[in-house]
Amino acid sequence: TDYLGKIAAANATLNAFITVDGDKTLAMAKAADAARAAGNAGLLTGVPIAHKDIFCAEGWKTTCGSKMLEHFVSPYDAHVVEQCTAAGLVTLGRTNMDEFAMGSSNENSAFGAVKNPWDLNAVPGGSSGGSAAAVAARLAPAATATDTGGSIRQPAGFCGVTGIKPTYGTVSRYGMVAYASSLDQGGPIAQTAEDCALLLNVMAGHDSRDSTSLEMAREDYTRDLAKPLTGLRIGLPKEYFGTGLSADVAQAIEAALTEYKKLGAEVIEISLPRTELAIPAYYVIAPAEASSNLSRFDGVRYGHRAAEYSDLNEMYEKSRAEGFGWETKRRILTGTYVLSHGYYDAYYLKAQKVRRLLTEDFLKGFTQCDIIAAPVAPSVAWNLGEKSNDPVANYLADIYTLGVNLAGLPALSHPVGFGAQGRPVGLQLIGNYFGEARLLNAAHQFQ
Ligand code: GLN
Repeated sequence: TDYLGKIAAANATLNAFITVDGDKTLAMAKAADAARAAGNAGLLTGVPIAHKDIFCAEGWKTTCGSKMLEHFVSPYDAHVVEQCTAAGLVTLGRTNMDEFAMGSSNENSAFGAVKNPWDLNAVPGGSSGGSAAAVAARLAPAATATDTGGSIRQPAGFCGVTGIKPTYGTVSRYGMVAYASSLDQGGPIAQTAEDCALLLNVMAGHDSRDSTSLEMAREDYTRDLAKPLTGLRIGLPKEYFGTGLSADVAQAIEAALTEYKKLGAEVIEISLPRTELAIPAYYVIAPAEASSNLSRFDGVRYGHRAAEYSDLNEMYEKSRAEGFGWETKRRILTGTYVLSHGYYDAYYLKAQKVRRLLTEDFLKGFTQCDIIAAPVAPSVAWNLGEKSNDPVANYLADIYTLGVNLAGLPALSHPVGFGAQGRPVGLQLIGNYFGEARLLNAAHQFQ
């Protein structure tokens, strides 16, 4: 109830939540109390959590930030939600996001922009801006989020909180509205690495309903938290620290690396030579997959349907024209174009080859170091409205996060201080496949 009160007081300003349903939350809290009274409480029983509005939850509106799904009430739980509920977590509400997770500032939400709790003139980052803002403003101790090209790490960085995107295949995509299926991964946002580890223990796990869910033994992501960092080799990719990185961010990262050295780590320069190709490769592959995934929103099965139409085609056209926002339309058009006959080889196939090369760069990097440290974004959070009419400016700001998704690697962002205008700076730590525990270890020792 304390959190519900805080949300009621702050949400009109921050707009971090799209849906809050006090009755549902209180019913879950009661069930948690009953479990505790019966001696069935687990470690997280009764802990409140906010869910990104991309995860289907039975009986809850699941809008994905889109007018298309404004009235969609999910008939089932996503695997992530199912596991959170089974662990006794209490849903506080549904957090705001860029429409269909397409964006870096949360300004693409059909339900209005989210404000950054550190500075109400700043964006919170995206697409999981509502989750990051809710945690930063202490409206929730933790939140679920998703990361297709940076959407956990970048808003966590902009809002001064911690978030981790695990190795592709760790968290089931079942019931998570699909954006770009070969890149999408769920993960937690919380105050600390320790909280993220506890939540990832709940969110991860094999699920046969997602064909890319990995069949692996359950991990305990808290297992290495207390390990000393002596001898840890941190690689710094020189391409991530060149022109384009603003001085305040570079400075905060440098200070953090000094701290890591004091903790016993060794810092080594490495090279990820094809880094700049991540943006064109991602912005071909992600829209291609999105154009296919979003074809299901046809006004027939679910989602918005136009009020007036004279035949089936007109119903499709009007429903989609009315239901999707501009950025979503832009990606559907781009995706359809790059997949079309005659252009497939020039764009999509080439992007897939680049994806392979980017992965090879990372793997080579990991022969020289244990984890890679990098900025999350080229600058601190920008002003609301500053880039909202410039899609390319938004895409360019994703330079440091996209490669990780293209390669399927785990990466986290943890706060390391403040930059221009007192806005938070995050440090990105990238691990080799299944290296989550080590990333969380490093962040925990730092914190
Ligand atoms: N900013 C990127 C995009 O717009 C990443 C979004 C995400 O990770 N969901 O596609």
